Amino acid sequence: MSNPVLIIGAGVAGMTAAVELADSGIKTILVERQETVGGNALDLYKAFPTDDCFYCFEGNRWRPGIRKCFYRSALTDQPNISLRMNSEIGDISGAPDQFSVKLKVGPGYVNPKKCTMCGLCLEKSEAFRLLSPQCQPQAVVYDPTKADDGAKQAEEECPTKAINLGAQPTEETVQVSDIVIATGYHEMQPVNVDEYNYGKHPNIITQLELAKIIDPIGESGGVPVRPSDGKPAKRVMMVQCVGSRDENYYPYCSKICCIFALKHANILTQERDDVKVSVVYMDIRTYDRYERYYRESRNTGVEFVRGRVSLIEPRKDDTLDITVYDSLLDKYLKFSVDLFVLSSALEPSEGTDKLIETLGIKSTSGFVGMVDPASENEVVVGDHIYACGAALGPAEVPESVTQARAVVSKILQSRK
Ligand SMILES: Cc1cc2nc3c(=O)[nH]c(=O)nc-3n(C[C@H](O)[C@H](O)[C@H](O)COP(=O)(O)OP(=O)(O)OC[C@H]3O[C@@H](n4cnc5c(N)ncnc54)[C@H](O)[C@@H]3O)c2cc1C
Ligand code: SF4
Ligand code: SF4
Repeated sequence: MSNPVLIIGAGVAGMTAAVELADSGIKTILVERQETVGGNALDLYKAFPTDDCFYCFEGNRWRPGIRKCFYRSALTDQPNISLRMNSEIGDISGAPDQFSVKLKVGPGYVNPKKCTMCGLCLEKSEAFRLLSPQCQPQAVVYDPTKADDGAKQAEEECPTKAINLGAQPTEETVQVSDIVIATGYHEMQPVNVDEYNYGKHPNIITQLELAKIIDPIGESGGVPVRPSDGKPAKRVMMVQCVGSRDENYYPYCSKICCIFALKHANILTQERDDVKVSVVYMDIRTYDRYERYYRESRNTGVEFVRGRVSLIEPRKDDTLDITVYDSLLDKYLKFSVDLFVLSSALEPSEGTDKLIETLGIKSTSGFVGMVDPASENEVVVGDHIYACGAALGPAEVPESVTQARAVVSKILQSRK
């Protein structure tokens, strides 16, 4: 019998690969470093290209007959998937088709198969948290740095005995036939991009931070608010290409940030009559079907300024005065805004460089792919080694799902 397939990363791409391989009868080990699956798509509210709610994203038909909702997938119950949460990849050795991989599995403080999400521990101690109502596995998580007497009490009183505060990390070595890299992306924290003052003023945020603010299940119930004081944000400015297309940071275009900026601009202006949005850009790059978002935002009154932000001056009331050089008008324009949102570069997830080096994969950008435009969508990146989704470079969800399915089809072919 063949060894199982190892999938690194349980975002949309890794989950698609795992579920479809498992449904085809192939055993998979799905390793995720976080305590919930879903990756970056967990906090995105509405999703382009269909504007569906991300919780029931149509592109992912995980379980026909159950709902098209990947957060209710049977990931934890599918017998062919062995899910390792809170885990990291260690040394990789051996030959293709017979890789030997060390897994560092974090302590399992809460057993997801036993937790019924009754909420008792959440009342007893702040060390327990529900990451998201849609999280998978459907279980609370425990943060040992916040341990207190309430946590101990919760462990004793948990009705299903799901809590083990003494849990320890473990290590194990698995033999696998193939490795699928689905490690996704990380939104660059633009702390070093001095001109934008990120990290120095609470109302200067990134697009992923904005996505959390406007998510109806978030703290403000979806109302766009200023982090500084919780007051409604009426004037929002976005700035594109922060850290992308910039030789000082990342020379590549992050490909999808124009689209998610326009998505956010449209959500803000269409859901709230009193919010005004301006977008400062070099070029608006809306490929393929996404031109619709650009048209829509122009029709709903989003203001586009081609130019550069030259000065940000915080006022005492936490409003930000922004000076922008408009290169079409050859003029300096002044704005006063509540939120300044940076469309920050998408960079490879932490540790991807080590995987690339260990597995001897080519990369010129830090991502697994993007070696040249012709190979951008090539999912076979080595002998019995594959990559899909944003691990190959910035990608939207439908693209990530398609690439994951391509990986599945390649593995199935190789086993014929
Ligand atoms: C602000 C914003 C809005 C967006 N809106 C949309 C939208 O509306 N529609 C759309 O289609 N796309 C959207 N996207 C893009 C979407 O987030 C990606 O297409 C999608 O998340 C890619 O999925 P993925 O599985 O490839 O990667 P990720 O979502 O990044 O998942 C990767 C997973 O791998 C895990 N991981 C990483 N490294 C390791 C490791 N070494 N070991 C173990 N686990 C690891 C991570 O913890 C994560 O869970 C948006 C992106 C942003 C930034
Ligand atoms: S008390 Fe136990 S079953 Fe209830 S939410 Fe906490 S861990 Fe889950
Ligand atoms: S997608 Fe748009 S904002 Fe992002 S790097 Fe490319 S041009 Fe800049």
